[in-house]
Amino acid sequence: MVFTKKSLGQNFLIDKNIIKKIINSTIVKNKNIIEIGPGKGALTDEILKRNPKSLKLIEKDNQLCKFLKNKYLNNQNIKIFNRDILNFNLCKVSEKNSIIFGNLPYNISSQILVKIIKFKNLTSKFTNIIFMFQKELGEKIVSKFPSSNYGRLSILANYKLEIKNKFFISANCFFPKPKVTSMVIHFKPKFNSKYKINNLENLEKITNMLFSKKRKMINKSLKKILTDSQIKKIPNLKISSRPSEISPETYYKITELTEKN
Ligand code: SAM
Repeated sequence: MVFTKKSLGQNFLIDKNIIKKIINSTIVKNKNIIEIGPGKGALTDEILKRNPKSLKLIEKDNQLCKFLKNKYLNNQNIKIFNRDILNFNLCKVSEKNSIIFGNLPYNISSQILVKIIKFKNLTSKFTNIIFMFQKELGEKIVSKFPSSNYGRLSILANYKLEIKNKFFISANCFFPKPKVTSMVIHFKPKFNSKYKINNLENLEKITNMLFSKKRKMINKSLKKILTDSQIKKIPNLKISSRPSEISPETYYKITELTEKN
């Protein structure tokens, strides 16, 4: 008997059409697949039907892990890691050109996404990332500049990820039924050839710093990290702007300049 743990965001997908729709986002046959938070195996079963080359599952819940190890006992292609994804070295276990699926636990989904965006070799390791989020968070990730949802997450995501597709999932497609609507986003990692940020943690720090004072003009914060002459070099920058009034490209330029200091 496996008990459902709310603390681990365990809302299991039960709608077969939605499960198929998620897995049909990309071609799985003969590909190396990673799944984060497989739960009882709703997506896993559908992935297996499409004959992947290999499948790696990362599940934190000990009980679910035992359940999965038993369920897939005879399948040599599956490797199950009973680990917390937030302190697991995903890059180390991933083959080149892998695909990641995950109906993510809502409470840590932005942390998981940011962890993956920061991988140095993201584009060589992963060709497709298909994640499910709470709708409100998903809207922030895909939001364009300028818009009310625009912020830290869309700036970070836009640097490394192209958004191929998105769709919503009703709460009725899960058991237990969550209180919120979900959103699936299909990302493709991309090279950003225009801006050269060496360490994405710097972009993360800068966006955190500026958006922590959302209503304030950026001039004071900028002067803490850049010289006056550097600030003047940034194209189209009005230093009386608020953080949400600056384009992603300007954030990338600011980060590039701070890395030179
Ligand atoms: N994929 C399944 C499905 O669609 O029915 C389950 C999705 S459920 C929303 C999230 C899953 O992530 C649960 O199985 C939960 O135990 C697992 N999980 C929660 N926190 C985790 C963590 N830090 N690392 C790995 N797995 C985690």
